[in-house]
Amino acid sequence: METGLAQIREEVLRRNPGETEFFQAVDEIFASLSPVMERHPEYVEHGILRRMVEPERQIIFRVPWVDDKGVVKINRGFRVQFNSALGPYKGGTRFHPSVYLGIMKFLGFEQVFKNALTGMPIGGGKGGADFNPAGRSEGEIMRFCQSYITELYRHIGEHTDVPAGDIGVGTREIGYMFGQYRRITNRFEAGVFTGKGVSWGGSLVRPEATGNGVVMFANQMLKTQGTSLDGATVTISGSGNVAINAIDYAQRLGSRVITASDSSGYVVDEQGIDIDLLHQVKTVERGRISDYAERRSQARFIADGSVWDVPVDVALPCATQNELNGDDAVTLIKNGVKAVAEGANMPSTQNAIHTFRDAGVLFGPGKAANAGGVATSALEMQQNASRDTWSFDYTHARLEENMEDIHDRCIATAEDFGHPGDYVTGANIAGFLKVADAMIAQGII
Ligand code: GLU
Repeated sequence: METGLAQIREEVLRRNPGETEFFQAVDEIFASLSPVMERHPEYVEHGILRRMVEPERQIIFRVPWVDDKGVVKINRGFRVQFNSALGPYKGGTRFHPSVYLGIMKFLGFEQVFKNALTGMPIGGGKGGADFNPAGRSEGEIMRFCQSYITELYRHIGEHTDVPAGDIGVGTREIGYMFGQYRRITNRFEAGVFTGKGVSWGGSLVRPEATGNGVVMFANQMLKTQGTSLDGATVTISGSGNVAINAIDYAQRLGSRVITASDSSGYVVDEQGIDIDLLHQVKTVERGRISDYAERRSQARFIADGSVWDVPVDVALPCATQNELNGDDAVTLIKNGVKAVAEGANMPSTQNAIHTFRDAGVLFGPGKAANAGGVATSALEMQQNASRDTWSFDYTHARLEENMEDIHDRCIATAEDFGHPGDYVTGANIAGFLKVADAMIAQGII
């Protein structure tokens, strides 16, 4: 690694103790940047890397609420406003007990490059809380969202920072947050959140966008090798919004998706996942994945091991960070996997990525492959700004165009910097260049 990079990498490690996921995300970008720093010494002069790894602003706050038994609860809320060189901070909100500053910073950092790759005028940020929505009543969820916004409202806005959903936050939670924002500010500022319900400013296709987009990306990767998802067998992890919409779209394109999972285990359904049943069990009833197998005779529930043990042509990790490690990659390769595209953020460990790359498996990193979600959020912002609503078909076509652009930009950039076919290098460099050039143009700030 080039000296400047190695030094700053050490600095990041030292200055952010214990934030392992953040360091992993930084390290992954830095590993791609040597050819860029050689070609553009001006980035070193302008302190671009040192500035990029330091969030512009980090907000940490108390979120007090009262549960159904009348007990006072305290959670920690976050919003990391990472980089606004390209537009207002933009990124999701995660409610999960694992949330701490290191996870918020990794997600915010990834978001900066992902958002740049979409070609849309959006900066990067991320927020959330260490709140566990599992088993909470409707009223508890609402009060939590209201309390979260009672602090956060002063830091966001359609020209400042535009939150959306992520793990644990969907249309329901965005509704409660938007409602509280509207009440406090007395403004119907539709563009302050994305992922809204369609009748109150949301965009068609936004719920499907991340899952559909990752499938489009996988298909585009396969097409460069003269194949496609049509007739392919696919394993998908997760059973949330991203996974469900990936399963659904992959099956529409003619593949057979044979797995879905949650934190309790996974199901294998050789005939292809029944999307209506999965949706009923996981989204409507908010139940366990084992309920799926109980209601479908040909499906098996497996409590240990992982979906990566199942032989398939294509693997789409759509659950969470670091869910696919080096050993899983070896198993997938041994079983003949041809392509992997990340629906989740940073689901593959660095070891897994190297293993796939060395074996010549097509590998689409999350910041490219799952960018369809935030790209469609940017389309929602466009509709809000023009007070317009677009049709499903038009919006879906825009998403597809966007995914193709991202795919082609990864390929062209990887080729330009001497790593043909390497989507990781292509995505990292293409995103980086866009943000770096905007930062230089805007001075040392
Ligand atoms: N949470 C999603 C992501 O990781 C979507 C963010 C957004 O739409 O702002 O990209």
